[in-house]
Amino acid sequence: MSTEVSIACKYESFNTLIKINDPELLLEVFMSQLIPDYGEKIQLEIFERKGFEWQKLIVNGYSTTDFDEDRQFVLEHKIDPDHTNSWFYQSSQNGWYCAYKPLSSKQYAMYISTGTDEDIIDEEYIQLLFGFYCHQLCSLEGTYRDNLTGLYNRKAFDLRMHSLLNKKFPARRKNMSLPSVYVMLDIDHFKDINDLHGHLYGDETLTIIAKIMTDSFREYDLLFRYGGEEFAAVLMDIDNEVCKKVLDRFRYKVENHLFPKKDTVTISIGYTDFNRDLTVEQLIDQADKALYYGKQHGRNAIHQYQSLVEQQLIQAI
Ligand code: GH3
Ligand code: MG
Ligand code: MG
Repeated sequence: MSTEVSIACKYESFNTLIKINDPELLLEVFMSQLIPDYGEKIQLEIFERKGFEWQKLIVNGYSTTDFDEDRQFVLEHKIDPDHTNSWFYQSSQNGWYCAYKPLSSKQYAMYISTGTDEDIIDEEYIQLLFGFYCHQLCSLEGTYRDNLTGLYNRKAFDLRMHSLLNKKFPARRKNMSLPSVYVMLDIDHFKDINDLHGHLYGDETLTIIAKIMTDSFREYDLLFRYGGEEFAAVLMDIDNEVCKKVLDRFRYKVENHLFPKKDTVTISIGYTDFNRDLTVEQLIDQADKALYYGKQHGRNAIHQYQSLVEQQLIQAI
């Protein structure tokens, strides 16, 4: 096997198909389909170029802010900002690098390693991975994004929740973002908005709310259109007090937004600790219960499941 050589990517599709700036979800799909228990076998990191620096975004499907000097060094010195697609093997790290540029101005790099000295992954295998990656990139937009709002859709929700609750992953590396809170959000009296102004305007309202949502949460948080006028979110690395503030800020922003027909739209929110001992269904149930409590008590409110149980306002599930 060649050492530290830079060669053009053999996949034609690589040059034309990579246009989605959202590698995180893709990585999940990609790895889970290719190697079901990849968690034990492979390390996969994704970097984004920020000026002269490379920022590590993801390690094995998890967002990170980790700084890795060795990788930085290789990326800075071996990848030319104008070099569209290149890949090479770095023997000192026993891993492959692949740099790629989507159609936007962003530049990404991927690092793949088996992490152990003895079984080095071969070139054929890397080609297979990249080819697969390209095709997945292509179908990602259609498959995992909600057409109307641009948020992750229900299918993405099922996939992400499943992997977030899979105990194998987060324990493996330090400094990874961990899910802290699971949130359900539901527009108040949305039926009335449709009835009063028509479904097209209802759709417009959904789009605006999704936009406020995207602006209100951090890029590491996962935002989904759960279905209809219901949204879900997984907030990462956040403590209780901050979470309350963030959610309330969002609620407030929606309430005070000037919608096109000058109507006031409000939203009710229920949330619960992201307890990884629970199932997806149990998390949904808890957040739903808190949300339902808000619906019963005036709407336009945020409630936490644990706090309601503690105050004996609802029964524990
Ligand atoms: P509540 O405050 O209790 O949540 O009242 P609500 O009217 O929001 O709740 P309900 O579940 O009775 O109605 C939800 C409505 O959302 C009914 C449905 O027509 C509408 N809806 C669901 N999906 C869409 C969509 O994609 N576009 C539009 N325009 N309306 C939708
Ligand atoms: Mg609803
Ligand atoms: Mg509603």
